[in-house]
Amino acid sequence: MRSKIVAGNWKMNNDLSATETLITALKEQIKDPSVEVMIAPAFTSLYSAYEALKGNAIEVIAQNMHFAESGAYTGEVSASMLKSVGVKTVILGHSERRAYFAETDESLAKKVGAVLENEMRTIFCFGEELEDRKSGKFFDVVESQIKNALFGFDAEAWKSIVLAYEPVWAIGTGETASPEQAQEVHAFVRKVIADKYGDAVAQEVSILYGGSVKPGNAEEIFSKEDVDGGLIGGAALKAEDFKAIVDAL
Ligand code: 13P
Repeated sequence: MRSKIVAGNWKMNNDLSATETLITALKEQIKDPSVEVMIAPAFTSLYSAYEALKGNAIEVIAQNMHFAESGAYTGEVSASMLKSVGVKTVILGHSERRAYFAETDESLAKKVGAVLENEMRTIFCFGEELEDRKSGKFFDVVESQIKNALFGFDAEAWKSIVLAYEPVWAIGTGETASPEQAQEVHAFVRKVIADKYGDAVAQEVSILYGGSVKPGNAEEIFSKEDVDGGLIGGAALKAEDFKAIVDAL
């Protein structure tokens, strides 16, 4: 049985005090969840979030990291630094990182390699832009994103990889992929993985959907067979909304 996961990507929101406020509310709202629940605060809030959630089911994860272990990379943070503040899971390849910080499939492959070397787990994001959707090229685009960044690893690596399909046109726009559009891509990606690694591996990979998931649409999206949860942006910043999405899964 693959894991069911709801992860909140806080992006560049919430300073230390806002983090404490939101975590207090989340602890009140989300008790004994039946699915995996994660939140990804900014680097500056990771340690306090980890401390505040000790003994709680909500896992604190990071939004990004560098592929090198240490060195002259001003402004960057490594896997072992994240581990030292309690982080075991890292979001990689978010479309905002690809678009604004020039992340490529090649640099992402190195980051995934660093995650695996450090015995951490990644939520690896992929997804097409609006023009790829309109031109019908989206299957090719997502296939090459997955292959280029992830197919250099062995089958064992897939125990540490969660995927998140985030169509760029649906992020922060209020426009969601329809449940059918999400299911179509998730099933396609599972088949791409099965063709390379076999069905047993493919069936165990959790594939989350992200892009304008809200309390009002979560249940329908999560009802699809190959949708194993969600990566939530805006709605993860309000405890009631995030709780409602966790409950929908
Ligand atoms: P929104 O839920 O705000 O559309 O963001 C989705 C996202 O990018 C999560 O990583």
